[in-house]
Amino acid sequence: WKNQPPSLRAVVETARTHGDRIFLVYEDERVSFEAFYRAVSKLAHAMAEQGVRKGDRVAVIMRNLPEWVVGFYAAASLGAVVTPLNAWWTGPELEYGLTDSGAKVAVVDAERYERIAEHLHNCPDLVRVYVSRETAEEIAHPLVTKLEDVLGEANAWKSLPDVALPPVEIDPEDDATIFYTSGTTGRPKGALATQRAVNCNIITAAAAGARSFLRRGEAPPAPDPNAPQRSSLISVPFFHVTGCMAVLNASTFAGAKLVMMYKWDVIRAFELIEREKIQSAGGVPTIAWQLIEHPARANYDLSSLESVAYGGAPSAPELVRRLRETFPNSQPGQGWGMTETCATVTSNGAEDYINRPDSCGPAAAVAKLEIRDPVDGKTVLPAGQVGELWSFGPMNCKGYWNKPEATAQTFVDGWVRTGDLARLDEEGFCFIIDRAKDMLIRGGENIYCVEVENVLYDHPAVMDAAIVGVPHRTLGEEPAAVVTLKPGAEASEDELRGFVAERLAAFKVPIKVVFWHETLPRNPNGKILKNELKKLFVEEQASA
Ligand code: ATP
Ligand code: MG
Repeated sequence: WKNQPPSLRAVVETARTHGDRIFLVYEDERVSFEAFYRAVSKLAHAMAEQGVRKGDRVAVIMRNLPEWVVGFYAAASLGAVVTPLNAWWTGPELEYGLTDSGAKVAVVDAERYERIAEHLHNCPDLVRVYVSRETAEEIAHPLVTKLEDVLGEANAWKSLPDVALPPVEIDPEDDATIFYTSGTTGRPKGALATQRAVNCNIITAAAAGARSFLRRGEAPPAPDPNAPQRSSLISVPFFHVTGCMAVLNASTFAGAKLVMMYKWDVIRAFELIEREKIQSAGGVPTIAWQLIEHPARANYDLSSLESVAYGGAPSAPELVRRLRETFPNSQPGQGWGMTETCATVTSNGAEDYINRPDSCGPAAAVAKLEIRDPVDGKTVLPAGQVGELWSFGPMNCKGYWNKPEATAQTFVDGWVRTGDLARLDEEGFCFIIDRAKDMLIRGGENIYCVEVENVLYDHPAVMDAAIVGVPHRTLGEEPAAVVTLKPGAEASEDELRGFVAERLAAFKVPIKVVFWHETLPRNPNGKILKNELKKLFVEEQASA
């Protein structure tokens, strides 16, 4: 690892060495590595003229567009702390992100600009807002510059002048990024990562494949210098660590082609996999399920797929078998990580995953996992026992931005207290049981929602399932299910309850099954918004 990049800026310099190879593909836009570098350098100089220096925050607020990638690396090249905000957020939520981070510059697309326009006067730190993909109307605001006025159209970035990045010294301990957590269990928190943490993720990703060979005592294959360029479909947002760290940074560093879509659409994904000969797809488990289940799949040539990998949310063990049946040339893979651990810590793939389809894999070589007593947070539990997962390693964030109390609870002596319940087996494979907050206790008996959900997923008619706790006067909580059926499939409430009853203890059987007619509400990381679903039952009880 002598040549490992010490900073995100070094990743940009590395990318440049891939020259004319195509890097970013979006609709009919194709941006080579060299053109990308020129655009990054041009925007970095423009930001530097606005006074952006090392340590300043720069917000990026866009859908997955080539300008997202350029905005991210331009700010990173200056040593600024890049702060991607969730493109699904409303105006007030974006105002929270901008003021919480104290962003000096923001790079936004026109749709996001419309949401923040009336909030700009509440963001005193902002000195410049670059707006991309402007609508017909001109924006007359003193803070706004059209990004196209700086960079021109994406297809013409190759003709930008070849200028070196503005000079700056970056240390591995410098702050690099603030990513906001998904907000599944509360208000999103900004997790601050160093250059070292970010780059550790790139290296971990590059090493994950070799690791599974080494575990089996075999030598990993030597890299083939004549191998064709790899290509990935990015179907999760760049503004969460899965999209940015696990997919974007890894592609930039490896010289891979990255095909993006404005919005996840399974038919469009099929078209792009065929047209661009995509090898890696996935992101979150829901996307893998859609690739398998959609009937239009048969109309496309998807034989280029070599890997469908996902993480960030629980996935049913059944998914491994279904993926292998559907895409026999492709390897399933999954990983576990958090915003606070700067993306991936564990990964499971190839034979290891086939043999343990319910495990998210062992920790990366540089990381360490422990299962501790969930109450005292100290006693380390032996292999096989369920407790709270703690994660240690150079990828861990420094803490939460502006939140000393939450930081003290979660970041302890270099460890991250994850809030996930898990067990490790004798070989160090990790099995996520559930979130500590996604477990319910019915009259003193623990019910892990994921366990019941996985049984429902085994039913042939079930497309999507969520278990939520419904308050009960004497038992505390009882499990209830919200289920979406596959197109054209049928199953009654009694049948599904009976199906669970045959496989799990009676106290785990949902007292009620509600059929949901669209896809279940999820946040951009593919996680089901259980708080929304709980309302279904609370309202029902209130009206009963
Ligand atoms: P918030 O912390 O704001 O409530 P969040 O925890 O959903 O939101 P993220 O950092 O995006 O925010 O997600 C990390 C969480 O995702 C983990 O703590 C874990 O619960 C879940 N997760 C990640 N990977 C996996 C996986 N492979 N299997 C099961 N759960 C996973
Ligand atoms: Mg979390």
